[in-house]
Amino acid sequence: MARAEPLGALMRRIVFASPDLDSTFPFPALAPVDHVKLAFPDADGEVVLPQFGPGGPEPRADGRRPTLRDYTIRAVTPAPDGSVHLTIDFALHDHGPAGRWATTARPGDTLGMLGPRGSRLFPADRRRYLLAADLSAAPALGRWLDSLPPDADVVAWLFVPRREAAFRVSTGHADAVRIVAEDELLAGGRDLADHLVSLVADADPADRDFVWAAGEATWVRPLRRHLRQSSGLAREAWEVDGYWKVGVSDLDHHAVDAEDEG
Ligand SMILES: Cc1cc2nc3c(=O)[nH]c(=O)nc-3n(C[C@H](O)[C@H](O)[C@H](O)COP(=O)(O)OP(=O)(O)OC[C@H]3O[C@@H](n4cnc5c(N)ncnc54)[C@H](O)[C@@H]3O)c2cc1C
Repeated sequence: MARAEPLGALMRRIVFASPDLDSTFPFPALAPVDHVKLAFPDADGEVVLPQFGPGGPEPRADGRRPTLRDYTIRAVTPAPDGSVHLTIDFALHDHGPAGRWATTARPGDTLGMLGPRGSRLFPADRRRYLLAADLSAAPALGRWLDSLPPDADVVAWLFVPRREAAFRVSTGHADAVRIVAEDELLAGGRDLADHLVSLVADADPADRDFVWAAGEATWVRPLRRHLRQSSGLAREAWEVDGYWKVGVSDLDHHAVDAEDEG
């Protein structure tokens, strides 16, 4: 890592520099949810990378397993020396290796990086965008807000554990972002997942709109069910992604989503 700065009380923006991040780094910045796999140091402090054979990833000859997690590419910016810098915003927590690494990382610390594997494009011509994220998906929300045209009609909800964790996720559409403090909702006896469903349902989305939400898997699941079963929206009009799950390490977000779609 090259440098870091706080984003509210519970996130940290980390900027990476590397000779491999030259100007040909294959990241065309197509979609808000483009992400990489980061490889974190193991207990010995060594970054173990996956091994690839002709058919894709395969077990390493030395039996060691890489510690890989998904992270959104928040920005790729030109560096003064002609290379590029890559920015990732980390939610800080002490429950897993990635959250812990981000909390204590210092300039000079190293990670492995793989990808991005592809780009998930969303429609750019919708009448209105309804976007919701928790802190893990705040970087993707930021990319949404950066990339939507200035005249787009946007409503965005950023759920934060407490108000001090809020920060400005993007300079684009900044006025469209409503902060929802989870501790205040819980103190009032509200359920976070039900509240998310109500916010979206009250906005009364139609097929000409687009609904996107990402964050803790149990929190977004009722919204996915609502959109699929009761909203009457076409499947192309929404996307809901579980980015992590309480009590689960290294959640496979594709598996969670496939389970719910079945
Ligand atoms: C496509 C995609 C993009 C993502 N982009 C980002 C991003 O840009 N920034 C970001 O911060 N996260 C992002 N995430 C989420 C991140 O990959 C997970 O939070 C990941 O589990 C963190 O790994 P860990 O090693 O810290 O915890 P794990 O080893 O995976 O889990 C250990 C424990 O930590 C808990 N935990 C995991 N994540 C969190 C969290 N955020 N808050 C509190 N507890 C947690 C788990 O419930 C589990 O009990 C993204 C996920 C996906 C699928």
